[in-house]
Amino acid sequence: MSLNHVRPWRNIYRRKSRQIMVGNVPVGGDAPIAVQTMTNTLTTDAAATIAQVQAAAEAGADLVRVSVPDQASAKALKEIVRESPVPIVADIHFHYKRGIEAAEAGAACLRINPGNIGDEKRVAEVIKAARDHNCSIRIGVNAGSLEKHLLEKYGEPCPDAMVESGLDHIKILQDHDFHEFKISVKASDVFMSAAAYQALAEATDAPIHLGITEAGGLVSGTIKSAIGLGQLLWMGIGDTIRVSLSADPVEEVKVGYEILKSLGLRHRGVNIISCPSCARQGFDVIKTVETLEKRLEHIKTPMSLSIIGCVVNGPGEALMTDVGFTGGGAGSGMVYLAGKASHKMSNEQMVDHIVEEVEKKAAELNATKDAAE
Ligand code: SF4
Repeated sequence: MSLNHVRPWRNIYRRKSRQIMVGNVPVGGDAPIAVQTMTNTLTTDAAATIAQVQAAAEAGADLVRVSVPDQASAKALKEIVRESPVPIVADIHFHYKRGIEAAEAGAACLRINPGNIGDEKRVAEVIKAARDHNCSIRIGVNAGSLEKHLLEKYGEPCPDAMVESGLDHIKILQDHDFHEFKISVKASDVFMSAAAYQALAEATDAPIHLGITEAGGLVSGTIKSAIGLGQLLWMGIGDTIRVSLSADPVEEVKVGYEILKSLGLRHRGVNIISCPSCARQGFDVIKTVETLEKRLEHIKTPMSLSIIGCVVNGPGEALMTDVGFTGGGAGSGMVYLAGKASHKMSNEQMVDHIVEEVEKKAAELNATKDAAE
């Protein structure tokens, strides 16, 4: 990661983890923090699941997880994997056979807890299937489903119990000489999750999958995830993230990216800086930003745009953005390009005009990047 020597307070020092491959996506080490989501269609409805995987990938998901609760789902998984633009993680609980079937169907990763799938022989079979099919494993510890003996030992779900569970599962994989794994220790409680992840980060060099489980709806879940994942990422912990929301998977991807963008850990698309608006606004800021967010969804090039209601903060924000618009008086405002006041534009035409300016700037940035490569 490149460090900012001019503004050292922006630097995040990432924990050094081992790198593994999930299909063609590197996870851990100095790889970009991968964004994941999970489909909520019936896996047996391959067409609906493929559509959801594609929409999530279009929104920027690097990996998509799909539940495999039964044999019919494992069968459908094959088709889903074939049509998916991104590696598929198969979510397996308890049934070791589903794990084997999912690996055979081409899953790039199995989310499975080796300690929960039966006796030693079954564990060995699943690990062999994963190895034979180039499939990694995610150990997914969840505070809500800890092993009985750990609940008895600790009295209730707690960070120590979660980490112990994770390390027990790691040991099983290591004993089978299997090392292509990552691990998560999720809880719906932000404090428990954060404490568990911090302890886990000390205890292993495996890549870490971050998530606050069952976080809630779009607004409450976003806030919980931003606090929980945000502070861990800020500490340098986390190699892949999933924001769990009771919402469309595309929303999970968008929120995941926004968290990473806020911390400067990943950049994708237009980062819009806008003011909340007030009586001073020279145009309808809220409506304009809503429209621009939709009209600029197709831009994947990382860049910034400031949309500010008046000159109180407009010129200052525009200084630090690629394209800017600041409301003025008499139905028009000022367009800023690369931080400098460029030309006036009427409020009526400004949305179309800003979209054009952003597209132009994106093309310019892409050309510069291509030339440098
Ligand atoms: S920038 Fe201007 S319009 Fe926007 S909130 Fe501040 S004072 Fe109000």
